[in-house]
Amino acid sequence: MISVRGVRKAFGSATVLDGIDLDVHSGEVVSILGSSGSGKSTLIRCMNGLEKLDGGRITIDDFDVSRPKELSEARKRSATVFQLFNLYPHMTAVQNIALAPVEVLKIPRKQAEADARTLLDSVGLSARADAFPAQLSGGQRQRVGICRALAMKPRYLLLDEITSALDPEMTSDVLAILAKLAHDGTTMVFVTHEIEFARTISSRIVFLDKGQLVVDLPTAEFFAADGGMAKPRIAQFLSKMR
Ligand code: ATP
Ligand code: MG
Repeated sequence: MISVRGVRKAFGSATVLDGIDLDVHSGEVVSILGSSGSGKSTLIRCMNGLEKLDGGRITIDDFDVSRPKELSEARKRSATVFQLFNLYPHMTAVQNIALAPVEVLKIPRKQAEADARTLLDSVGLSARADAFPAQLSGGQRQRVGICRALAMKPRYLLLDEITSALDPEMTSDVLAILAKLAHDGTTMVFVTHEIEFARTISSRIVFLDKGQLVVDLPTAEFFAADGGMAKPRIAQFLSKMR
């Protein structure tokens, strides 16, 4: 389980996360929605130990990401894919994917590269396994990025707007892979602007507004609020997104 308790984060005098509480249990897909600047990426970076918290606590399977000794254990359990493709340009797709399994998990290179090819095959990229990032399309690079995260066999996958730099066709390729992962029971925290897709794969939707988590609802209930009933802030947000 990922547990976020009372998390506060400020940059200078600006409070960006203002007392966030969130639990993500095994098998859940939790989508994080919210306007630009609401703190979504900062929350993901905090979950991955990339930002120092100003208050509160985040644990991943009881390992506290704020404690240096526990962070490496937390990171073995969760993997993050970001919006911009952060592949190493001088390594092929296979080499990018095999790197962390070899260096961190100490898997023999031959085995790690064979595993990488299996992963690439599962996302329809076996023919591009030996290509360098510059020789791949954006959607292909992002699929390699997902494989690189999966190569560490994480329990939790944190995904921050991984399709926002892609055209619609590439986006649908990447979303199809996420749908498959969700179907297979992968636990995911998914920051996205793809509202309709979030609706199809999420067990829960969380809505951030100015650094506060203002809504945390099962997906069907979240979208029911769209009907103009309660929560005007959600209705306003959804009407802008569509
Ligand atoms: P978007 O949908 O545009 O990606 P977001 O919800 O991911 O937005 P964040 O990137 O988390 O938003 O940023 C939240 C706020 O924190 C913004 O006002 C942003 O300018 C600010 N911020 C983020 N990172 C830093 C930083 N390193 N230094 C100062 N301010 C920052
Ligand atoms: Mg962001």
